[in-house]
Amino acid sequence: MVKYVFVTGGVLSSVGKGIITSSIGKMLQARGFKVTAIKIDPYVNVDAGTMNPYMHGEVYVTDDGGETDLDLGGYERFLDLNLKKENNITTGMVYKAVIEKERRGSFLGRCVQIVPHVTNEIKKRIRTVAKRSNVDVTLTEVGGTVGDIEGLPFLEAIRQMRLKEGYENTLYVHIALVPILDVTKEMKTKPLQHSVNELRRIGIQPDIIVARCTKMINSEASRKIALFGTIPEGAVFCSYNVETIYEVPLILDKQGMGGFICKRLGFPERKPDYKEWKDFVDAVLNPEHEVEIALVGKYAGLTESYVSMNEALRIAGATCRTKVSIRYIEAEKFEQNPKEVEILRGFNGVFIPYGFGPRGTEGKIMAIKFARENNLPFLGICYGFQLAVIEFARHVCGLENANSTEINPNSPHPVIDLMPEQRGIEYKGATMRLGAHKIILKPDTTAYALYRSKEIYARHRHRFEVNLDYLAKMEENGLVFSGKSADGRRMEILEQPDHFFFFASQFHGEFRSRPGRPDPEYYGFVKACLDRKSGKPKPEF
Ligand code: GLN
Repeated sequence: MVKYVFVTGGVLSSVGKGIITSSIGKMLQARGFKVTAIKIDPYVNVDAGTMNPYMHGEVYVTDDGGETDLDLGGYERFLDLNLKKENNITTGMVYKAVIEKERRGSFLGRCVQIVPHVTNEIKKRIRTVAKRSNVDVTLTEVGGTVGDIEGLPFLEAIRQMRLKEGYENTLYVHIALVPILDVTKEMKTKPLQHSVNELRRIGIQPDIIVARCTKMINSEASRKIALFGTIPEGAVFCSYNVETIYEVPLILDKQGMGGFICKRLGFPERKPDYKEWKDFVDAVLNPEHEVEIALVGKYAGLTESYVSMNEALRIAGATCRTKVSIRYIEAEKFEQNPKEVEILRGFNGVFIPYGFGPRGTEGKIMAIKFARENNLPFLGICYGFQLAVIEFARHVCGLENANSTEINPNSPHPVIDLMPEQRGIEYKGATMRLGAHKIILKPDTTAYALYRSKEIYARHRHRFEVNLDYLAKMEENGLVFSGKSADGRRMEILEQPDHFFFFASQFHGEFRSRPGRPDPEYYGFVKACLDRKSGKPKPEF
């Protein structure tokens, strides 16, 4: 019998619900229980793929090609899972399915309603994930804040789930902000009380309340939360500010949350084993070295746009006991003042992330040129890979005005072009080349040294690719494509053998990076930055 933990949030969004959900999973895993996690996003988009990362944060890509909410990345990293498209449920998805059924005549003769038809569809989706994942506990995080109009059908659905699944198989966790007033330094629990009331109005009485506060809440605040929330004081926990998010399961478990959840779900008491997790946290908190990396991007104002890349860099850093400091630089700065690119000299490496559209691309190309000419470690991901090809074509192969047709459709040398299967596609949703694809690596290359395998799988999200008409020219000039698709027609990894470390991939290694098990391309880059800084003649992997 699978058990369900539902997580809701109050007062404000962005209080770290995703991290707390992941942490609950970690506490259960540390006791030997199998878990999976679902994110519910009440927006009407069918998936996150059509949203601007600058507004909503990055789009997280799953192995099966789902374009999902970034919280799935948190679940995968914390819980070492490979989730599926179905682990992200949206209003758009649910209504689309219900309306299609209605058109097919599945509800013939009946009036189709939010309760029960929409709520049934939601419950069915949650239960399907639980059943297919074959786990002890399914965590379901409801995005947004209690009281949002869009969230109501989902809250109603999770309320109903207790009726069928039973009290001992369902647990409601509510997370809300407890602000501290600047002037009096008082911890204010009133907003949290209101959000609990709002939840109760819908018919959900939380079993656990997590106060999100900058500091550990005092006993007075905790007493008040318990009293007004109608729960024992032992069911109130606090997620306070810590140096790294990976500490959150440890601080919550220390307060007794893991034991409380197990008891409440009727599990036998087990001692948690955090050995590996603690080693990783220790490596994050106590680095012996430091490298500074320039991330030259277009969404630099919102770090959430690059959260998986960020984490992949830090995770790679932890493996070599290195603190990775990331400076976000708007690529357009270099376009406005080309001399600015000189600031890259002060960094240990240059990183060019994913991206779409023309804005900022010339600035990124300038940064790539600088890294290539100055033997500065370089890693390019997806658009970063494509722009490295353009830079090489222009400045090494002498192909003037070489470009991607995404940036300039009239370029005389379209070295990056739309993939053939993308021609004629009209719908924007879920139509890119998505998810995990096989890649064959070339022996005696940096790629091979890093992955130590002839064949790898990595996740993709793109419409454009290297134009094969220019392949010979680039290879003659020294660019090595050390990773290609199984049929050899799609370029996946490039490197420059005479450079200290110049590496880029069409795929996104960050989506497979896990604490203690960094993705090889990120590890290679961070290690190269460190080795270059310490004066080694070449990187040692
Ligand atoms: N815009 C490029 C493409 O569609 C790169 C996409 C990306 O960086 N994810 O191919």
